[in-house]
Amino acid sequence: MIELETPPPGQPPASPASFEHRRLRDGTFWQTVPRYAGVDEATFLDHVWQGRNSVKTPEELFATIEGLVDETFIADAREGFELAPMAVRVSPYLIAAIDWSQPYNDPIRRQFIPLRSTARSDHPRLTFDSLHEQQDSPVPGLIHRYADKVLFLPTQTCPVYCRFCTRSYVIGPDTESVDKLALGKTPDAWGPVFDYIAAHPEIEDVVISGGDTYQLAPKNITLIGNALLAIPHVRRMRFATKGLAVMPMKILTDPAWVDALVGVVDRGRAIGKEVVVHTHFNHPNEITAITARAMAVLFERGVYVRNQTVLMRGVNDDAATMLLLVKRLEYVNIHPYYVYVHDLVSGVEDLRTSVQTALDIEKTVRGATAGYNTPTFVCDAPGGGGKRDVHSFEWYDRETGVSVWTAPSVKPGKYFLYFDPLNALEPRMQARWAVPELQDRMIADALAHAGGTVAALA
Ligand code: SF4
Repeated sequence: MIELETPPPGQPPASPASFEHRRLRDGTFWQTVPRYAGVDEATFLDHVWQGRNSVKTPEELFATIEGLVDETFIADAREGFELAPMAVRVSPYLIAAIDWSQPYNDPIRRQFIPLRSTARSDHPRLTFDSLHEQQDSPVPGLIHRYADKVLFLPTQTCPVYCRFCTRSYVIGPDTESVDKLALGKTPDAWGPVFDYIAAHPEIEDVVISGGDTYQLAPKNITLIGNALLAIPHVRRMRFATKGLAVMPMKILTDPAWVDALVGVVDRGRAIGKEVVVHTHFNHPNEITAITARAMAVLFERGVYVRNQTVLMRGVNDDAATMLLLVKRLEYVNIHPYYVYVHDLVSGVEDLRTSVQTALDIEKTVRGATAGYNTPTFVCDAPGGGGKRDVHSFEWYDRETGVSVWTAPSVKPGKYFLYFDPLNALEPRMQARWAVPELQDRMIADALAHAGGTVAALA
């Protein structure tokens, strides 16, 4: 008989803090906002009510949060909206998720409501449409940058408008500071997009975004899904929506939309094609018991969901918050896929972080959970280089904040530059960026270290 040794002890008992990701906000939490005090659960969960009661002007917002914040905050936000490149639209769900006792620091407020007092000047090298999507657009509403993948933009509207939107050049109505590009955004205008995809056999992967696919009528989800599934070489499709993060109740109360989505997913599965949803959570507070209920519906009906997060100062730029977000996402069956270094977007310099911040947080997140649920941290190289792993820069000068990237499979021989926000640099370096000749020299030096030249910039 073999004598068994006493088994080695396992992990020590988990601390209560390690279960934080399971503590989802529940109950009628929205009733703490005076405007919603009398709103019962059935009404709050109604996506039509959420849409109708979303605030769409600064004054509507101020009326909604009256009594929760002081006049100083209101004046600060009023001036912030005047400078903002994005229009305002915030759902009651998000307004209720904000901690109004700390409006300056709340991570959800920071994403949707600009303040004059925290505004920073844009980086001198920032350009409108920093990802140069319009240069890679063969027909209106379609971006073809990667050989096997396209991005289809069938709508220009979203259930909310995020301050930091990369496509602020095109999304939503015009604002005081920006006239938006107008793209063809009706079913009539989609024919050339389908024709282009059908004529390019190398395209296997289609991202349907916008705007936000939450805004598409069920019949248009079906129309787009069927048109793309019918193209033999299209193998994969992703419907992109931030809706799960900002209005999860639509999944519970809009069965026609869910049925349309599930119909496309099921038809794709039946013919061996993958159809999934990509969503966009940035902070653990965006995930509530309502999100869990919505995800239970999608999971049970076989819809796979991946998440893309944007790294933002004061929102999720510390390892503890990012870890909690990752754990909470996987807890509700959402796959944490990417964390993006914030794109160079006009008017949101207060939200950008350095590449170094991404490197530091990634180091902590990796190893905290299963590898397949560990997001890849990427920098979307300005100029059209696409998403690069943050560790893959050719050169990174932490003092000047200039990082140099290449993308051999996207634009061979080209070099791409990302610039850390000036407020992450030492004052003497910030002063150098005020002088155009010194800017050119810092850029030329970084390129030389990376083996590139100014002539090879994308
Ligand atoms: S939901 Fe997406 S596309 Fe719409 S404003 Fe926000 S980030 Fe931009």
